[in-house]
Amino acid sequence: MPDKKPLLLSPEEYQTWATLESQIAIDEAIIRSVGEGLLVADQLHRVIKINNAAAKMLGWEDWNAIGRQVNDVAPVELEKGDTSILDVPSSHPGQQTFFLVRKDKTRFPAAITTSSTILGREIIGSVIVFRDITLEKQIEQSKSDFVAISSHQLRTPLGSIKWTLEMLLAGDFGPVSDQVKKVIHEVLENNERLIGLIGDLLNVSRIDTGRVVAAPQSTDVVPIINKAVSQAKPDAKKKDIAININIEGDIRPVYLDPKRFWEVFQNLLTNAIKYNIPGGKIAIHLFLKGEKVQLDLTDTGIGIPASSFGRLFSRFYRADNAFKSDTEGTGLGLFVVKSYVEDWGGRIWFESEINKGTAFHFDMPVVK
Ligand code: ADP
Repeated sequence: MPDKKPLLLSPEEYQTWATLESQIAIDEAIIRSVGEGLLVADQLHRVIKINNAAAKMLGWEDWNAIGRQVNDVAPVELEKGDTSILDVPSSHPGQQTFFLVRKDKTRFPAAITTSSTILGREIIGSVIVFRDITLEKQIEQSKSDFVAISSHQLRTPLGSIKWTLEMLLAGDFGPVSDQVKKVIHEVLENNERLIGLIGDLLNVSRIDTGRVVAAPQSTDVVPIINKAVSQAKPDAKKKDIAININIEGDIRPVYLDPKRFWEVFQNLLTNAIKYNIPGGKIAIHLFLKGEKVQLDLTDTGIGIPASSFGRLFSRFYRADNAFKSDTEGTGLGLFVVKSYVEDWGGRIWFESEINKGTAFHFDMPVVK
């Protein structure tokens, strides 16, 4: 019982409220009326409580559900296969969707939280709370469809603008003055930026819909690194940034899709230039570590605020300092980078200190 008595209740009123029965009645009413589905199971995983929302969502009468195994009342299926509701992790990792199966065998996507009831040191049961997320999933789907369709539609005209401008520059339509050439170059540059942005959007939508199929093969990443670095040199030069490559010993071929490696490395390198200070440095270090080849990419740039660490790989996320130093970014690159690295069986991580610099690291499985 709480020590402090509520000021607005008389001692008699408080006594009535505080009796065990009335507390139980209040708890029952709360459980019954919360909007989320709630199931309570005992030590033997039998349902001992089911609230109205849960009964309605699962299609059971509460009296009929009590005493049954929780896995029979609330079976959980995954996109592929099934699992026990008691094994659903507390935070659903990645893009895995859990479905709850109703009594009539239809199913709905659900956000599920399962926690153990502990008395003393003993687990005496579990409490399961869930919510129907059909609407969220539909909205997510429409968003992905919109991004996929619009980026596809935008890509084609941008491609033809690029070709036409290049033909103009090459003099295919007659002589072009230097002044006009300069303007065309600027338009081309902006067009390139748009093509890059649309490419990022397409990648994100492909990842979302699971339509990305990698083509892994034995890959020598050294020439790809050299090519990306020489392509990035003009931008680095504009900011007077020195790029140092250190390849340690013989690097064994890795097993991944070379196109994806290109995207990952090119994205990180572009960031290291974009978020660097004038006169800064970039160090690339490639080395063998056990059964993996590791790449470290270190810059001396603006750094990442510690408050942004947790969200850095989320789509559209940009730290405040990055936004101030470069207003053009989309916050999509690192999301794609992480998905690709994890998809080829690698890990990606970073350290950073504000105004000192950032180091990104990722690894790749060597060909066995
Ligand atoms: P974008 O560069 O388009 O904003 P990214 O997904 O590539 O998108 O990066 C997300 C955010 O991560 C950036 O906006 C920036 O805040 C931070 N970031 C990434 N790389 C670096 C870096 N090398 N130095 C400082 N901040 C970085």
